[in-house]
Order: sequence, then structure tokens, then C-alpha cells
Amino acid sequence: MMKISEKELTRRGFITRVGQGLVATGVTAPLLKNAHAQLRVPDPPGKKLGWAIVGLGSLAINQILPAFAKCEKSKVVAFVSGHPDKANKLALRYNVNPKNIYNYQNYDSIKDNPEVDVIYIVLPNGMHAEYTIRGLQAGKHVLCEKPMASTSAECRQMIDAAKKADRKLMIAYRCHYEPYNKEAIRIARAHELGPTQMILADAGFAAGDPAQWRLHKALSGGGSMMDIGIYALNAARYLTGEEPTEVNAMSFTDRNDPRFKEVESNVIFQLRFPSGVIANCSSSYSYFHQSHYRVMGTEARLEMDPATWYNGNRMWIERGNKIEQIELQEADHFALEMDHMSDCVMQNKEPLTPGEEGLRDLTIIEAVYEAAKSGKTVKL
Ligand code: NDP
Repeated sequence: MMKISEKELTRRGFITRVGQGLVATGVTAPLLKNAHAQLRVPDPPGKKLGWAIVGLGSLAINQILPAFAKCEKSKVVAFVSGHPDKANKLALRYNVNPKNIYNYQNYDSIKDNPEVDVIYIVLPNGMHAEYTIRGLQAGKHVLCEKPMASTSAECRQMIDAAKKADRKLMIAYRCHYEPYNKEAIRIARAHELGPTQMILADAGFAAGDPAQWRLHKALSGGGSMMDIGIYALNAARYLTGEEPTEVNAMSFTDRNDPRFKEVESNVIFQLRFPSGVIANCSSSYSYFHQSHYRVMGTEARLEMDPATWYNGNRMWIERGNKIEQIELQEADHFALEMDHMSDCVMQNKEPLTPGEEGLRDLTIIEAVYEAAKSGKTVKL
């Protein structure tokens, strides 16, 4: 059997040769004209909402702050951090007024700052509920990183706080907003592969330093399921558009490994959906890395590998003995999700991934833990 990489090379080679042929025959002019017609010309800059970033760690510094340059409706105006030196340095870089730098003690006084419309919680998972609720009580809209919180009970408190404050609450499930995963959702739900029969989804990476918060339950809420397995779970849900009714699970954690004294590493879990689709998913902190899903329809199979990286995701469909590589324009996941949130605030619309979306994942993760512990199917 031909390897996928060989098939891809063959297809790319074909496209290149066809392109050269077109140049030679002068057919490119109308094509180029067409390409110009398809160029997306951005609107002139309009109103941008002011964002405060809470927790200046790896994700905030490497992904979220640079993404503001690509936002059309969002700008960064404030920081909340336990490290003023770091916050001041980033303020200089991103043109944030030093008077808009807060710490975890004076965070609530952000309510008096009219420049801040939306707060983005990028803290360890165990702090999401408290800082989301405090942000909502300060009268601000909140975007909270995944997983929404450590428990479903905390998720409910966050949703209640948003309702009480009449503010928007969105969970940062970036894959719902980026072109490749959106296209996979469209293809699967339109039954372009035939009705979906099975979904296989795997997510994992090797957790490093045993001292990091991800490996300590009070700050993480749990192990790989909370941090990375949630991608496989969320993918199974967004690819079907359904909610699972039953969960099975098995887990294995090497408790002699200094990283895994408090949290789990390897989990395999299965979900049954109302239409009959079944999903087999894995989550791990113990191997190199994995970000992969397959949607198996009666007529074709859609595959993404990697499926959830910030960029470089690849998608193909295998039908009969042909593989079709799907190539889309990449876009910044964080800019897209932040602008979606700003748009929802400005237009008073419900976000695509509201608090209820985060609650559903946490409820299922709790069922996964219960099924792994009891060895029994958990009905939802
Ligand atoms: P980091 O550890 O790199 O950053 C967390 C930041 O939180 C710290 O830098 C610190 O900021 C602040 N903080 C406050 N109290 C503590 C504490 N007790 N221990 C550690 N940090 C503390 O984590 P990440 O940036 O990787 O992850 C943050 C959140 O983002 C998590 O919920 C994670 O699940 C999510 N995430 C989402 C991703 C996605 O693709 N959507 C990818 C990666 C992470 P300061 O010094 O400013 O106070």
C-alpha cells in the first residue's frame, strides 16, 4: 500500500506540473484575475473592545498577546499578574498603560476601569472558577481557558455568576473557530463521508517537570484528561454535534513516575452517541505527542493529523483507493476566538462555546474518571 506521504507528494507534484503548464499556455491571466477577486479585503478598523489578560504564562506570552495584532475587534489594554516586572516588560512591548497592571489582590478593582470590556482567564485550571466569578462580579465579560474549571460544580457556579451579572461567559475552545476543524465539522455533519459510524481521537504529550502545576491536583483539577484528553473528547462531540449517553474508560498511571504522584497519565475512553456513533478516544501525559482524529463514515474516512496544533494541521479524505488532501488558508486560532467573543459582546449574541459547553466536557470527564475507577459503564 502506498504511504500517505508518497500520495501527498504525488498530488503536490501534479499540481505543480499543471501550474507550470498553465503558465506556458498563458491560461494564468484569468486565473490570477480570479484570485485577486477572491482576496479578502479587510474592513477599515472599527471599534475594538479592551481586553485584560489574567496570568502571563506560556500561552499568554507566546500565543495570545501576539494574536492581538491579527484581531479586528479586540485590543489588549490591561494585565493581571503576580509578577510586576514581567507585566511591566510586556506592557512596554504591547503598549499597555502601566496604570492598567493589576495583581491577584487588587484584581477586583478592575471594575472601576472602563477601558476593560473583556477579561481572559489564562491561569492554572484550579484558579479558573474563582477568577472568572470575580471578573463577572466586576461587571466584565469573561473568556476562560479550557478546561473550564476543576469540577462540574464549579462550572455551574461560573454559569450562575454570568447570568446574575448579565455578562457573557465563553470558554476558549479555539478549534471551534479555526478553518480546518470547522471544515471537518461541516463535512462530518453533512454526511459527506456517509453517515458517521465511528470516531477515533487521540491526544497526548509527554509531561515534563514534576514540579509544574499541571501535575498537582489542586491547581490542575486532574491529569491528562483535563489538559489534553479534553481535545479528543471535545472533537468527538463537535464532529458528531451530539451529546454522549454512555461512557466506558480504562486508565493506567505509573505511580513510581515522579510526575504522576497526584494525577493520571493514560486514559482510554469510549463514548456512545444517540445516533449510534461510537467514539474511541485516548489521553496521555506519557508519550511523545499525539493530536489526531479519524471520522469513519460508511463511504469515506476523514483524517486530521495533527488535528489541534496552533498551525500546520493537515486533513485528508480517503475514499475508495484515493486520498484527497484538503488544503485551507490557516488563521490564528486565538485571534479568531477573541474576535468572536468581542463580536458577541458588541452584538449581544451568545458565544458559540458558552459556559454550558465547558460544563458538558467537565461532566463527561467526571464520568470518564468514574468509569475508569469502577470498571462499569456510566450512563449520562
Ligand atoms: P503557565 O504555567 O505557563 O502560566 C500560568 C500563569 O498563571 C503563570 O505564568 C502565572 O502568571 C499565573 N499563575 C498564578 N498563580 C499561579 C500558580 N500558583 N502557579 C502557576 N501559575 C500561576 O500555563 P499555561 O499558559 O500553559 O496554561 C494556562 C491555561 O491555559 C491553562 O488553563 C491551560 O489549560 C490553558 N491552555 C490552553 C491552551 C489552548 O490551546 N487553548 C494551550 C495551553 C494552555 P503570572 O506570573 O503573570 O502571575
